[in-house]
Amino acid sequence: MKHSLLIIALLLGVWAINAQEFTRQDSLRGSITQERVWWDLNHYDLNVKVEPSKKFISGYNVVRYKVLKEAKTLQIDLQEPMQIESVEQDGKKLKFTSEGNAHFIKLRKRQVPGAYNELKIKYSGYPREAVRAPWDGGFSWKEDTNGNPFVATSCQGLGASVWWPNKDHMYDEVDSMRISATVPKELMDVSNGQLESVEEKGDFKTYNWVVKNPINNYGVNVNIGDYTHFGETYQGENGPLQLDYYVLPENLEKAKKQFAQTPMMMRAFEHWFGPYPFYEDGFKLVEVPYLGMEHQSSVTYGNKFENGYLGRDLSGSGWGLQFDFIIIHEAGHEWFANNITYKDIADMWVHEGFTAYSENLYLDYHFGKKASAEYVIGTRANIQNDRPIIGPYGVNKSGSGDMYYKGANMLHTLRQLVEDDEKWRQILRGINKDFYHQTVTSEQIENYLSEKSGKDLSAFFDQYLRTIMIPTLEYKIDGETISYRYVDIVEGFDMPIKITVDGSEKWLFPNATWKTEELGGTQVDFDKNFYIETQKI
Ligand SMILES: [Zn+2]
Repeated sequence: MKHSLLIIALLLGVWAINAQEFTRQDSLRGSITQERVWWDLNHYDLNVKVEPSKKFISGYNVVRYKVLKEAKTLQIDLQEPMQIESVEQDGKKLKFTSEGNAHFIKLRKRQVPGAYNELKIKYSGYPREAVRAPWDGGFSWKEDTNGNPFVATSCQGLGASVWWPNKDHMYDEVDSMRISATVPKELMDVSNGQLESVEEKGDFKTYNWVVKNPINNYGVNVNIGDYTHFGETYQGENGPLQLDYYVLPENLEKAKKQFAQTPMMMRAFEHWFGPYPFYEDGFKLVEVPYLGMEHQSSVTYGNKFENGYLGRDLSGSGWGLQFDFIIIHEAGHEWFANNITYKDIADMWVHEGFTAYSENLYLDYHFGKKASAEYVIGTRANIQNDRPIIGPYGVNKSGSGDMYYKGANMLHTLRQLVEDDEKWRQILRGINKDFYHQTVTSEQIENYLSEKSGKDLSAFFDQYLRTIMIPTLEYKIDGETISYRYVDIVEGFDMPIKITVDGSEKWLFPNATWKTEELGGTQVDFDKNFYIETQKI
């Protein structure tokens, strides 16, 4: 996919500033190196044999790429202890040198700009075992209650190179992919996209999955178990969409009840965000032995078939128990993470801020605006304001966990500023259309929101994304007169807020300087939909 030289310059610049805190391995993993920049991913053909009894995997990946500019060395990532066995181009073996998890392949053939070339990379090993999937991921080698292997991968942040060789940087995505997983024949593999065919070879079966859309690396997954299947057809904005569900047999009845929320999710999110971005690849919910993850078109699920987040309401408002957190949140990522993907994990709020925000839009669609507002405001209790939401660029490092609920409350505040719910909905749908299947920077999204809302939001985004300060409105009331100003703000922050005076709405336009105005009443209430603090002095 496309990228710009400007972004590369920015990434390298910030990398230099942060060079002391981070290692060379961080930069090799997190920046667009010389050995990455000259080629553009087109297709992966990943073949992997998974042997649960040995916790061993082996196979190859054929990487097809387009040459953008002539070069002699190409970087492929594969994390230790996995080993590359051989690399071939046009049937000829190539030499490579390794520096930790980065492997530099010496190409023999001239790389002609515009040409499409392929590399076949054979590999094997005992992949890292997940410590606490999906946050500290790798392979989860588990068993179901009947003693069958129940195996799944998760690797956001850590990187897909923990289990297969690829170009492990988010700025570049393949345009399509095949995943062929060979597993013991009594088990099934469920991966991304559509199941094309199944082949039996001795004691093993190979499941061939085809993904027709661009896919990010961490979205690729294998899920292996004694699955049973059910499904339905959803009539969506772009026509019929196949919804497929894969669960363990013992959970079939529970799943049939709980997954009724899937078409409800589709209805709400297509309304707010536009058509599901991967119709050709279908949509699946796949049971896994961990909480869940936004794997593209095969969202993984381990929320115990209960509403809430493992039965809890993250908002404390009661509304969080009206939906299954994993179905709604992880599927929300199909729009923000899988359709629109960060180029650099520093901008991960583009995934998590919008997706945490999607939870309240689901409530808005099915339970009304009041429910939605109470939910998102309730989630403010989870905000830490420990570090800025945006992290350091170029070193594969995300910012604060506040990207979720502070991000959601920032967007909820922006909805108030737009002051027109239909316009706001069209902006959200517009983002998904105008950045369709692209990788983006936070800055692109910020500029888009400024442009489409018709407001200069640069100080607004700097405040909430790049500082840990909550804008605080200091005020005094004297009879029917109010004086007010903002403190704890970045330069130029002048966000209007809404109040009610004796029950009627009024806008205030605070900035860093004291202002005084007549209210025509004495009972003043600040609109809680705006994420600010108020301080009477
Ligand atoms: Zn998420």
